Amino acid sequence: MQNYLNLSHKGIKDFNSCKALFKNLHIDKIHVNKSKNNKFFSFDRSIHSALAEFNYKADYTNKSYIMYILDKNWISLGYSSIYEELAFKNKAYRLLLNYINTPLDMSIEILSIDSYLKRKVNKYITLTCKIDKLHEISSNVYEVVDYKTGKHISPISKNHTSFHIPILLDLIYDKFSLYPNYISYYYLQFNKKISYEITSEVIKKSKKLLKSYVNEIKKEELFICDKYPCNNLDCNYFKYCKNKKL
Ligand code: SF4
Repeated sequence: MQNYLNLSHKGIKDFNSCKALFKNLHIDKIHVNKSKNNKFFSFDRSIHSALAEFNYKADYTNKSYIMYILDKNWISLGYSSIYEELAFKNKAYRLLLNYINTPLDMSIEILSIDSYLKRKVNKYITLTCKIDKLHEISSNVYEVVDYKTGKHISPISKNHTSFHIPILLDLIYDKFSLYPNYISYYYLQFNKKISYEITSEVIKKSKKLLKSYVNEIKKEELFICDKYPCNNLDCNYFKYCKNKKL
């Protein structure tokens, strides 16, 4: 591979599902920005930015402050009408209020909030990932939190253990010289947190997986679909794909 590439867990996942998909989305970047103009993306980003600001100030007593930071961080893109936008904003407000009433991720120290981590692996590939919150929850016990704004609580999926966790652990270790003890998925609509312990076994497996993904991507040159012509109607990229069966 001879293209400069920012490789996220989403990229690794796409590479594993279809090499043509990976090339279209992550190398040629065809139609990638369309997804950023939708209301769910705006809603999710607005809440993450508001939460980041709130976490830095960490004033759990001042409830009116939450409306101020929500307004300040609100993204209006993608809503079909002012009424729809207002309904989403009310939902965001209730969700944040719920969070500050009984936060499940209190810290003794915050190491990072809403930040992007990067590590250059070679001339062409840079690993990237976003972390919502990395903090110390008790003496020398660290947790990385992934805030979820959706309506469903899903069990930790294979995608997370196979693609997200390896890259996350690598980049956290590179930047902070530590491995978190827990990765937690915080479902804000339910104010429920599900945690997954990062054991030495998980770390070992993650390192091995990440190394093999990067090596496979590095040596790939053709990026073609194994099933040409493809009739995978479940693929989100189907409508744009040149390899699809007509
Ligand atoms: S439609 Fe098929 S070939 Fe095209 S990107 Fe999706 S899975 Fe790959």
